[in-house]
Amino acid sequence: MNSTMEKPYVVGIDIGGTNTVFGIVDARGTIIASDSIKTAGYPTAEEYADEVCRHLLPLIVANGGVDKIRGIGIGAPNGNYYTGTIEFAPNLPWKGVIPLAAMFEERLDIPTALTNDANAAAIGEMTYGAARGMKDFIMITLGTGVGSGIVINGQMVYGHDGFAGELGHVIARREGRVCGCGRKGCLETYCSATGVARTARELLAARTEPSSLRDIPAESITSKDVYDAAVKGDKLAQEIFEFTGNILGEALADAIAFSSPEAIVLFGGLAKSGDYIMNPIKKAIEDNVLNIYKGKTKLLVSELRDSDAAVLGASALAWELKDLKE
Ligand SMILES: [Zn+2]
Repeated sequence: MNSTMEKPYVVGIDIGGTNTVFGIVDARGTIIASDSIKTAGYPTAEEYADEVCRHLLPLIVANGGVDKIRGIGIGAPNGNYYTGTIEFAPNLPWKGVIPLAAMFEERLDIPTALTNDANAAAIGEMTYGAARGMKDFIMITLGTGVGSGIVINGQMVYGHDGFAGELGHVIARREGRVCGCGRKGCLETYCSATGVARTARELLAARTEPSSLRDIPAESITSKDVYDAAVKGDKLAQEIFEFTGNILGEALADAIAFSSPEAIVLFGGLAKSGDYIMNPIKKAIEDNVLNIYKGKTKLLVSELRDSDAAVLGASALAWELKDLKE
């Protein structure tokens, strides 16, 4: 019998710095059950895994039991697909190398794969979203940081060590802004949500013209505040998006030269800022891309709902697992 019929579901687990969200997903990409817990607050990763399983197992049982689950996919910062480990993730509570995939396999006896969150987003987009049917595309996640997942010839690119595709830490400005990774000028320091807020603070300090952003204490300005101001016609806020989109477009023009993608798919709050961000990105790509690529790469926004994307992305990884019990 076709194993999708025997095992019609996969589980997706998205591990973020604040929350861990998980759900059971069917082959059409519908989340049929989900729950979440706080990621922090457990003395060890083992106790954290116990707690996830305590919440996840009842969902599995209610939907036919472990035998109906084809696999578990986990998306996590600094997740290594080859080893199933999370390695030195700065925003997670555990230090060092954590064999998280093995912990879930031990507890639930279900094959488990793990990758970083941006790779999971790319696989989710390829399975259920804007990149369906594409063999070559680049996923860019614009959140607190900037992540990327690169698909070439229909395959996720993991590199020799499992960590390929960190375009957020390609240097966009030599000797630029200090990055959390310890280097200077990474794309992430300009084009993440926190990068946008940083740009707002810099521009407000350097300039004198009026802006509604001046009504907000500088330290608490968010990229959402900048968006709201831009929509209301605030010129400085619009300029902040132009600056951000320009740097991102320049970086994407270089990325296009690397893998000649059919599309670049943008995900995250910033990607939803519409023309304020998309127009400068498109212009900067066109102004900077090598002639042979001009006009060939589509710029798309994720088709997955924000609330579902993380679980769907992680779950999609599980469809690719070889069923160990077949
Ligand atoms: Zn960096």
